[in-house]
Amino acid sequence: MLVQSDFFTDTDGEPVAVDNADGTSRVLLVCEHASRRLPQRYGDLGLSQEALASHIAWDPGALGLAQQMSQGLDATLIHQRFSRLIYDCNRPPESPAAMRDVSEIFRVPGNENLSDAERAQRTAALYRPFHQRIGQAIDSRRERGLETVLVTIHSFTPVYFGTERKVEIGILHDRDARLADAMLQLAARGSDYRVERNEPYGPADGVTHTLDVHAIEAGLLNVMIEVRNDLIQNEAGQRVVAGFLTGLLRDSLDGIQR
Ligand SMILES: [Zn+2]
Repeated sequence: MLVQSDFFTDTDGEPVAVDNADGTSRVLLVCEHASRRLPQRYGDLGLSQEALASHIAWDPGALGLAQQMSQGLDATLIHQRFSRLIYDCNRPPESPAAMRDVSEIFRVPGNENLSDAERAQRTAALYRPFHQRIGQAIDSRRERGLETVLVTIHSFTPVYFGTERKVEIGILHDRDARLADAMLQLAARGSDYRVERNEPYGPADGVTHTLDVHAIEAGLLNVMIEVRNDLIQNEAGQRVVAGFLTGLLRDSLDGIQR
């Protein structure tokens, strides 16, 4: 079994990044699909540059949006530094979606017929440290008497399997809908965006894994936010959407009884 130091080169660096580690907000931001970088050992996985730049490799704009929100809220942000093509950190190791050999319309040659050993290596190198870091952050806050509100930030492609998506911002939840309900209620009073519940994905698609692992059992308020990626293609767009979402989150949290 490879140890982690053999998996990543010096150029690759660490799998997990933490921004604003001492942020004072009770919101903890997480971005599982922040990066399209591949560890050097995988080359290009047999994919075209077009595929490697597309939403199958990452959530375009999501990291920039999450960083703007981190600044706006003074919130800690934990993000994955490698592509979900190697390991999708919003999926458990047993899920077929954790290491896909087909993603939307793209075949991923480098992910075909993975051995159990290869799956275990990727899980150990990418998934475990990422979720350990989130767990540590929540534990350390609890020890300091600070509660945590877990908010995961994602983006989705405007056209999926040839179908155009009208929804602009999705507010997603699993069994605990407290924060999502509050956000949707406020957004329904008037917003510049088309905001919908559990769109374009929902818990049945397996997208609430991070919320499930870290927040739902522990009773922490939580929500997953999906933004259509054409709205956050550049820093200006990210700033506008971040302004809307930080306001919505703040006002929604203020309205929830603690
Ligand atoms: Zn995502």
